[in-house]
Amino acid sequence: MTRVEDTLGRPLRNLRISVTDRCNLRCQYCMPEEEYAWLPRAEILHFGEIAALVDVFTGLGVDKVRLTGGEPLLRRELPRLVRMLAAKPALRDLAVTTNGLLLAEQASALREAGLHRVTVSLDTLRPDRFAALTRRASHAQVLEGIAAVPRAGFAGTKLDTVVIRGLNDDELADLVEFAKAVPAELRFIEYMDVGGATRWSPDQVVSRREMLELLERRYGRIEPIVDDGPAPADRYRLPDGTVFGIISSTTQPFCARCDRSRLTADGTWYLCLYATAGVDLRGPFRAGAGPEALTALITGRWRGRTDRGAEERLALRDRAPLLQVAQLRADPRLEMHTRGG
Ligand code: SAM
Ligand code: SF4
Ligand code: SF4
Repeated sequence: MTRVEDTLGRPLRNLRISVTDRCNLRCQYCMPEEEYAWLPRAEILHFGEIAALVDVFTGLGVDKVRLTGGEPLLRRELPRLVRMLAAKPALRDLAVTTNGLLLAEQASALREAGLHRVTVSLDTLRPDRFAALTRRASHAQVLEGIAAVPRAGFAGTKLDTVVIRGLNDDELADLVEFAKAVPAELRFIEYMDVGGATRWSPDQVVSRREMLELLERRYGRIEPIVDDGPAPADRYRLPDGTVFGIISSTTQPFCARCDRSRLTADGTWYLCLYATAGVDLRGPFRAGAGPEALTALITGRWRGRTDRGAEERLALRDRAPLLQVAQLRADPRLEMHTRGG
């Protein structure tokens, strides 16, 4: 294995693979519009293509893969892809991020296929809020999906909550208690001004500092857990020992430690969540480029990587949504739901 580092000394270790740009929810922070431009079906990578690209990436140091979307469980036969990837010894961690809607029916098959871990997005415990936030009345289905995860034998489960002022910032402690019972580790995510978040505004962001203040009011002193690793979440411990995380991408970004990149369902590789251009891997692959040529392409691009998207956004004086609807329509790969979050 050849390890590659970018211009800031950051290794290539973490790959998020979006397996579909389709979704069965319409979260207002991700897909608030009525209509979307979708990736052409013929351009979606087949499982064999994804597996072959993963081999190239693992050859360069990637040992963590997360399947995402859109909603990854909408991709037909997802367990088959999981089985193909789980057979690769180089992958130390193979996880899925899902909205949970289809988990009750798929959790066991995913576990049997060799999936290591599941992260479920859960922003609220209130069905009425869920319906307003996602424009779908399927909260009960999500809770059933979450309950199916430990039953299927998964450990290391996480629940991700995007915290938005006036929407769910009064539920932080309730969500911590819910996660404890699952059992799962809760991670609060600051609302990000990524592509697709066309309704974002700075006043809706609840910062890490505020979240800690809110939780300290309920629980008392919260202790930070010291860890210098690349993981985006800073972790904390409550007085009763419960651990939770905060991903403060908006107010305290972690670009300096970022080892992650993203592959869209159509095989475009993005070196930063905020990048407006990606590297086409599907084109060369389908034109017959072998592992060596793809390795050279990926190595060259990663070595030249200078991205610090979230830090650059933070430095802006007047921060507004990253992209306008017209730009997103013209290139759907700019969408968070295409890039996989
Ligand atoms: N559909 C799956 C889900 O929701 O878990 C996977 C894809 S989704 C794009 C991945 C993650 O991105 C979710 O946890 C979601 O909450 C997060 N996300 C989407 N838009 C966001 C935003 N504007 N700010 C912060 N997180 C966001
Ligand atoms: Fe919500 Fe995930 Fe779908 Fe985006 S991709 S609308 S975050 S469920
Ligand atoms: Fe990594 Fe870009 Fe996110 Fe910074 S903004 S943490 S460089 S993906």
